[in-house]
Amino acid sequence: MPAAPAVAEHEVKALLREAGVPVPRGVAVPGTDFAAVASLRGPLVLKAYGPGLVHKSEAGAVRLGLAADQVAAAAAEMAAGLREQGVEPAGFLVEEQAAAGVELIVGLVRDPGFGPVLLTGLGGVWTEALRDTALRLCPVSEPDVRAMLDSLRGAALLHGHRGRSVDVAALVKLIMAVGGPGGLWERLELGEFELNPVIATETGVVAVDARYLPAPPAVVEPSRVPGTDFLPLFEPRAVAVVGASTGKPNFGTMFLDFYRETGVPLVAVHPTADRVAGVPAVPSLAAAEVDYALVAVPAERCPEVVRQAAGVPFVQVMSGGFGEAGRDGLERELVAAARESGTRLLGPNCMGVYSPRGRQTFVGGGLGPPGSIALISQSGGLAGEVIKVGERRGLAFSRVVTVGNAADVTPAELLGWLARDDETRAVGLYLEDPRGGRALYEALSGCPLPVVLLVGGRSGQGRQAAASHTGGLVSDGRIWAAVAEQSGATLVSGQDDLIGVLAYFQAHGRRRVAGDRVLVIGPSGGASVLAADAFDRAGVRLDPLPGGVALGGLGVAADGNPLEVPVGPRGRPDLVPRVIDAIVARGAYRDVVAHVNVQSFFTYGDSADPLHDYARHLADAQRTRPDLRITLVTRNGDCAPDGVEDEVRRIAAAAGIPVYRTMEAAAVAVAAGGRHGSA
Ligand code: ADP
Ligand code: MG
Repeated sequence: MPAAPAVAEHEVKALLREAGVPVPRGVAVPGTDFAAVASLRGPLVLKAYGPGLVHKSEAGAVRLGLAADQVAAAAAEMAAGLREQGVEPAGFLVEEQAAAGVELIVGLVRDPGFGPVLLTGLGGVWTEALRDTALRLCPVSEPDVRAMLDSLRGAALLHGHRGRSVDVAALVKLIMAVGGPGGLWERLELGEFELNPVIATETGVVAVDARYLPAPPAVVEPSRVPGTDFLPLFEPRAVAVVGASTGKPNFGTMFLDFYRETGVPLVAVHPTADRVAGVPAVPSLAAAEVDYALVAVPAERCPEVVRQAAGVPFVQVMSGGFGEAGRDGLERELVAAARESGTRLLGPNCMGVYSPRGRQTFVGGGLGPPGSIALISQSGGLAGEVIKVGERRGLAFSRVVTVGNAADVTPAELLGWLARDDETRAVGLYLEDPRGGRALYEALSGCPLPVVLLVGGRSGQGRQAAASHTGGLVSDGRIWAAVAEQSGATLVSGQDDLIGVLAYFQAHGRRRVAGDRVLVIGPSGGASVLAADAFDRAGVRLDPLPGGVALGGLGVAADGNPLEVPVGPRGRPDLVPRVIDAIVARGAYRDVVAHVNVQSFFTYGDSADPLHDYARHLADAQRTRPDLRITLVTRNGDCAPDGVEDEVRRIAAAAGIPVYRTMEAAAVAVAAGGRHGSA
């Protein structure tokens, strides 16, 4: 990957010393005069440097434990060994040998999408074998660094293992000097940079190896047209469709049908006809007075159409056949055409916009209710599924936008706008492409709304051609996880969780909760035990109940969390709310997850009434407690007759309670909720 040769170790170490990173005392010897070595305190380490010496130990270019008077002979021997491998050392570094301790790795790489990334973890001989590392985007904060170190499987080695701990404060300081504000990451031409190992002991830290492979500065992308108001994209006064045929039905006519159904003022663009599929037509986009134009003509003709779009603030190019088909030149021409006419381009290769408030759509079956959930999706197909399945599950959308190749308008820019949109309370993001990752990270970090992130095609593979361990350990998949961690977004692993977490924020987004504890409550048995496991996997701790809660009077014997209470066709439908009352009177909770076994209502009962009764009592409990978020899990819903679950959902939704069919789905949502809404 990096073309430039590595900088010699002693030169990197000089840089490090300047930056406040402790390195061993040492001298560089370009020739054979080792007299200066006498000023060093043994035992000494001898290392050769020069072109071709990246992994020194493998080449036999490191000797430890030498006395000053042994260095010259050891160097001669080392040089001979290297020459046998065809490597001519440019010189030697002789340095003081640091005391043994915990060996760590601290590295930097420049990711093409996300920019400088910091990696740290267990280093030395353990680097490759354990791959126990954490990453973050630069600059990192001190809490980031501490969280990284705490996340290591080997964290115990740092915090006291067999009675020994290391100077964590010094380690954090070293990592901050590399990846923190004003750190080395800003001054180096990355490339790759790596300290491996940094030796940490009880008394301090020292970087005993340093590797730096500069790379030419990355090409800076031209900045986007700033400050676009996207409202006309989502709520256009009128829409034009370019490419609808007067003959065979095509994409254009399909969209004319969609738009006719939504009732948005509509015009077709057609070279000859004065009506297309019953819609009035004009011969050129230049003659259309609209805020939004949808273009579905063959790729080669798109630039010409876009050139006629002066006065139209947004043009969506639906057609494919651009960058995604290897035709980058045509895509650049399209963007240039948009610049020329002063329009903003959505796509190409995208489905467009869905916004019930603005009568915008790209899916059949009519518009759903307007709501508060936004979605930005790289895939039009997936966006269509999330809209339809989400609406079936009770989601209501404020704005949905698909970006396709994102040649002009990017997900980052849209997120920046949605973050300040009055109609939007949570944003879902589906992405496949880490291009523009840095801008997206910045938009995520600046977004006050909950964001749920689903990334397709996340690869676990590090960069194969990397010269450093750091490069080999940094993969897209791990960077996305770091981006979510650092920005507070929720990274989910599938479409169901994307919808599920958005549904949670739709229901609970406005509530300000008082506490930070989570209570799980429902019928006893294995399901309760499994619930605990599901929440544990999602990273949610279920604390024991606060002291002094007397539940005996309510007929509840146990006092654990998950709390086991009788719930079923013959149970009291108000028992769960009463138990919740008794518990939250003793300590503040952020979330209560109530679960029921739907099957039991129909195995031991014969009507849906007790279940609906239970749901109504839970709904009342939520209505009277705005500082608590109640979530309902309807396990084994398959056993309910048709329509029963819909009614439960309706009762719950009216009170702002999200409903899940599995504990796992609820746990993921409640975990996400932990990052938002504390009073
Ligand atoms: P390589 O290019 O093979 O990574 P290093 O400079 O990291 O070479 O040296 C190999 C190993 O030797 C290190 O992992 C470390 O354990 C040890 N080592 C190197 N320099 C020192 C030093 N100054 N003090 C203590 N140990 C050192
Ligand atoms: Mg090393």
